[in-house]
Amino acid sequence: MIEELVQKIKEKNPKRVLIQLPEGLITKSKELEDLLLKEGIESFVSLEPCYGACDLRDCEALRLACDLLVHVGHSDFGVESKVPVLYYEWRMDFDPVPVLKREKDKLPERIGLVSSVNFLDSLDKAKEFLESQDKVCYTGTGVRTKYPGQILGCDVSAALKIEEKVDCFLFIGSGEFHVLGLAMKTSKPVFSLKVEKKELEHVDKELFAKQMHVAVALVKDCKSFGILVSTKAGQVQAEKAIEIKKKLEEKGKKAWIFTMDTITPEKLLGLDFDCYINCACPRIAIENRTSFGKPILNPDELNS
Ligand code: SF4
Repeated sequence: MIEELVQKIKEKNPKRVLIQLPEGLITKSKELEDLLLKEGIESFVSLEPCYGACDLRDCEALRLACDLLVHVGHSDFGVESKVPVLYYEWRMDFDPVPVLKREKDKLPERIGLVSSVNFLDSLDKAKEFLESQDKVCYTGTGVRTKYPGQILGCDVSAALKIEEKVDCFLFIGSGEFHVLGLAMKTSKPVFSLKVEKKELEHVDKELFAKQMHVAVALVKDCKSFGILVSTKAGQVQAEKAIEIKKKLEEKGKKAWIFTMDTITPEKLLGLDFDCYINCACPRIAIENRTSFGKPILNPDELNS
């Protein structure tokens, strides 16, 4: 696959590129730089964490005098960039049928199929097998996502659009965030076919839902709010942050807005607030709710 990526880069005819790789592919970076150099292309690999196509390092590419940004592992969802971007989705060839053969009885009859972009090609194989076993499969198309069945942690609309038609959702992929994002938004059971473990698991959102309800209850009595805004190109929610600050102040609360690239609890040490509102990637609050030492809510949870 790395040869194909090099070929795609070559076709763009760049002189110098900045490459963004997701965590799992960083081990490929030396090989990639070597192959590009053989083609006469200078390259830099960014070691900043990159969780999605919301995080284009176009300003860094400009500063490094790159004429192409290569963004690997995610699909384009329209984030504006100051330099041309080559998206390379890194589709994985995974056969879900052996696991489904073993575990099909766990699944009810009507199934909504979803995946992250890397494992989308598995959905057709899953559908074909499951429908041969008298199940009915559906896929929907999301608001920000490009392909049928594709979800992001911050956009599970491809699933929610077909929610009424299905008895459960089946996610094929790796990691926790996509399935957790979906489980938190739907009342239907969510199953995760984990490609590394080759197992089918029911997603248990109880702990995360409980943490969210506790945070919602605690925030009601908070007086001082830290509103957190990420400066990542596709995560910026400046207007939302200002609107939230105004609304809080109308209710007699105090609120201040802070910006960061990646939002981490360490950066907030020494600032004294009763709670935080996260106007950035929702995974920050959902997955790491207890790491901040104070209640933290996403904007939609603040109004729940
Ligand atoms: S905002 Fe978060 S969930 Fe959405 S694409 Fe970016 S990293 Fe993924």
